[in-house]
This record gives sequence, structure tokens and C-alpha cells, in this order.
Amino acid sequence: MPPKAYIRTYGCQMNEHDSNQMRGVLITEGYEFTDKPEEASLILLNTCSVRHSPENKVYSLLGTLRDHKLTNPELIIGVGGCVAQQEGEKILKREKAVDMVFGPDNFFKLPEMIAAVKKGARVCNTEWMERNRKIQNFVPEEWVERGHVDGIKAYLAITKGCNNMCTFCIVPFTRGREVSREAENILQEARSLVRRGAKEIWLLGQNVNSYQASPGYRFYQLLDDVSRIPGLERIRFTSPHPKDWNNALSDLMAERKIIANHLHLPFQAGSDRILHLMRRNHTLDEYLEKVKYLQRVVPGVELSADLIVGYPTETEEDFEQTLHCVKEAGFSQLFAFKYSPRPGTDAAALEDDVPREVKEERLARVMQLQRQLTEAQIQAYHGTIQEVLIDAAHPRLQHWMNGRTQGFRPISFHAPRHEIGDVVHVRVTAHEGHWLEGELAASEALTGVLAGQR
Ligand code: SF4
Repeated sequence: MPPKAYIRTYGCQMNEHDSNQMRGVLITEGYEFTDKPEEASLILLNTCSVRHSPENKVYSLLGTLRDHKLTNPELIIGVGGCVAQQEGEKILKREKAVDMVFGPDNFFKLPEMIAAVKKGARVCNTEWMERNRKIQNFVPEEWVERGHVDGIKAYLAITKGCNNMCTFCIVPFTRGREVSREAENILQEARSLVRRGAKEIWLLGQNVNSYQASPGYRFYQLLDDVSRIPGLERIRFTSPHPKDWNNALSDLMAERKIIANHLHLPFQAGSDRILHLMRRNHTLDEYLEKVKYLQRVVPGVELSADLIVGYPTETEEDFEQTLHCVKEAGFSQLFAFKYSPRPGTDAAALEDDVPREVKEERLARVMQLQRQLTEAQIQAYHGTIQEVLIDAAHPRLQHWMNGRTQGFRPISFHAPRHEIGDVVHVRVTAHEGHWLEGELAASEALTGVLAGQR
């Protein structure tokens, strides 16, 4: 019987992408995958240290896994990702059940690590790959043709690490300085993903739009080239940084229907003073100008953002600027969090002086505002026709399919003659929560309607 592996992923799409790469590495080692940790002989936790809660969850899960090891002494437990990079040997010392600790640069070495553990070693591998070059194919040549396609969707990492040093963020320390992959290496992987069924590719980077393979080949050129790959239906990318966003990118989104009408553009805080303290390198006006331009050239574009409330010294006035930004941008989704200091960041040296109740109250206010905006946006969807990429059969209703609109809204509709991967036009007729419901639109009516909506 082939050995079974279980991987639990915490955090962002980059971690999901890394877990997919780990799956690829383990498949070549003969592993099969299970979603039941108790069946596995190898358990990997791919961790995130951006916020406290995922880190705490990892340690509490490790406590449970300790018991599995008592009943299954052959079980190998590995901790990878950002917490592993940050904590290293400390995890081995704190949790005796853990056999291997490895950072985000080391998962291609899993076979050697597993072999060492089987010989009785406990392994810590958090070395950085060579970081003296800004351009580097950090996905080894032999893996370029083996990227993971999940149904019709695939993640594709184009940069690794980050040079921005936002004061609250641990990523530059856990993922290192930014490197960009060579363009041809990325395009080769993208073409291979499409050949193997990908209809939607997500370009990933901690700061995806600072990608630069040469002075004349930046994120714009890459997006342009990926958008011309035959057979690909949709491109998404995450996360761009506002300071590296420009109107030329908005124009490209307007010109290429294949680039989804959705931009996740983290703004973190509305007050220029707080933005400066956070070292974000842009002002609120600059942010809003870029957003307004995009909304002008891509009518109906959906925006989402990340936001922190209660950063050290944040006053009520500062916070009101945040509310102002949320209203002005008209986000469709907001990922808002209360500030908590992360050890090792510059902000951790500041006094965390906004009381917990104030942070909670601000978080509740901004989320209440977002709920109002979202509800109005969803109502406005009724009667519109949306281009939908079908990504799954409806789990309960026969002949119904699920998909995502260009703006990333989930939608269900009756489509007996369509299958996963088809792009269809759907008239929105109802919604439940944030989930839309619709019916296939008659094709002859489309041209005019869609032209009017865009
Ligand atoms: S841009 Fe800032 S928040 Fe984003 S990964 Fe880099 S340092 Fe962290």
C-alpha cells in the first residue's frame, strides 16, 4: 500500500501554492493523499505567521498530533512555511512530536529530509536559497512542467519574498528579499498548466506587481504575455501594492477581457500619518486616484482590500479617514483585522497603545459599513448579465452549475448542457447572502447589454 500524506495549509494563496508544490514532490516519492490525519504516515503543516491566530492554531494542532504519534510511532510530522522559517529549531525544542522543520525555500528537499528522519534524525532546514540575484528561477527546471491544476484553477508564483518592509509585516523576514522569476520560465509553466486543463491562472507574489525580469520587462509585460496564451480564459493576480499600481495596468485590464474585473489592492489604513508610520509609501489620495481611474476605465470592476485597525497611535480622526476610504473606494470585500504586534517587526517596538475595546469597536464599525456597501452592491446585481467561468457542479441540484463572475462573486444557475470550464453568460435573478443565483442569458441579447455594463 502506498504511504499516505496529509497536508494542512494556513494563510495565503502563496502558502496554498507551496502546499501544491509539496504535493507534487511527494507524489513523485510514491505518496497518496488523505484528508484524515489519522490515516497518514506523513503529516505536514504549512504555516503562516502574518497573524497570531494561525500560529496559535498550529501549536494547538501539534498538541493533538502528539497523541497520534503515541499510537503510530512511525508517523512523521513536519512543520513548514513562515512560522517554521521564523522559529526554526525552537519548534523542535518546544514540540517533541515534530520531526522536521523547513522554510518556504526548502520544500523541494522534502525527500532528503524524510529519508533523514527515517534514519532517526530530527531535521531543521531553514536555509535561504541563494539571494544575491534579483532574477532567479526559484521553481527548479524539472518542476516547471508539473505545476498543480486544481480543477480548472492553478496558482503560479512569479515573485518570491518582498522588499517593502512594511513595519507591521513579518513576510520580508520569513520569505526573504524579493526575487522575480525569468519571464520565459513563467510562461512555460503557464502554457503547461493550460495544456493540463487550467482555464484560470492566478499569478502570485507577495508584492505581485513589483515583478521585474529586466528594466523593460515588468508586471505589465508579463500580464500582457500571459493574457495571450491560447486556451486560457481568465487571469487573476494577488497581491498588488498600491505604490506599484499604475494607470497603464488599469488600461490593460480594460483592454483584455481575459484579465478578471477584480482588483485586490490592500490599503491597510486611511490616514496619511498612519500610512507613513506603516512605511506604505503612498498617500490616501494617491490610492484613491488610482482606484478611481480603474473604476472609470473598467466600469463594474470589483475591489477588495486588506485593512488594519488600531495600529499604534491611531486616533479617532485617523480611523475616520479609513472609513472615508472604504466609502470612496466602494469595496466589495474587506479583510479587516485588529492590529497585533508580530515579534521581529519594526512595529513590535512601538507601544501597542490603542486599547483592545477601541480596536474592537473600530473593527465592528468598519465591517458594518462594509456590510451596507456589499448589500447595496448585491442588490444592484439583480437583472445584470455576468460572464461566468463554471468551476464546479452544484453539490445538490441536478443540472445546476457553480461558477465565479469576473468580479469573483460566486453564482449558481441551471445549465444542463454546460460543463466545468465553460464560460457562459448568466442573468442574475436572486441572491442568498453573498451568493448570487441566475439563469443562462439568451446569447442574441448579450452584445449590447454587456457593452453597456463594461
Ligand atoms: S508589501 Fe508590505 S505587507 Fe505586503 S508582504 Fe511586503 S512587507 Fe508585507
